[in-house]
Amino acid sequence: MYEREEDKNLNQKVLWELNIWQRYNYRHPDRNKKRVKKYRVEHLEICKERVGNWRRNNPGYQKDWAKNNKEKTKQYTKKWRENNPEKVYLMTKRWRENNRDKRNIVARRYNGTPRGRQNKINATHRRRMLLKDIIILGTHTFLEWEKLRRDWNFICLGCGVQEPAVKLVQDHIIPLSRGGSDVIDNIQPLCHSCNSIKRDKIIDYRIRW
Ligand SMILES: [Zn+2]
Repeated sequence: MYEREEDKNLNQKVLWELNIWQRYNYRHPDRNKKRVKKYRVEHLEICKERVGNWRRNNPGYQKDWAKNNKEKTKQYTKKWRENNPEKVYLMTKRWRENNRDKRNIVARRYNGTPRGRQNKINATHRRRMLLKDIIILGTHTFLEWEKLRRDWNFICLGCGVQEPAVKLVQDHIIPLSRGGSDVIDNIQPLCHSCNSIKRDKIIDYRIRW
């Protein structure tokens, strides 16, 4: 066998030294690819076993290859994960069960970030609304909320006090309990006290500014 990468540099003289199959493969790379593919589909078990044996006899090769082909490995992994969602779910579940300590550390670290905290608040909110048979329409991302706060210069639209003197919370202009949606257009930054004064009234503080 010869390396496909070197094919491009082969001249006629070298070509002459190849055996008949190698020459055929060189002249018809597409046909050869098709043939190999067909063989693999028809002899799946044998191929798997051969690959397995080869990997056992050459330990470390796969790891080295992955190290030298990081981008490709990333793409393969991504594709595999997309095509095998059940396996990914089971693997993740098993990992969590076997690495409870690590998982707790990861979860605690995530819950400590602004994004994690917001996520927790949103989840609680959703659960509460669900108990009242209120279906929340639409959604917004953490980044959209970050942008909204930045666009309003981190002030409470009710009293005009800026962070960090107050802590801003997401206020639904039309409350969820009155059919408002969770999209970013229905959200305004308010401090805790302004938010509790507003309660479930429909007040758009944005028009004041
Ligand atoms: Zn306020």
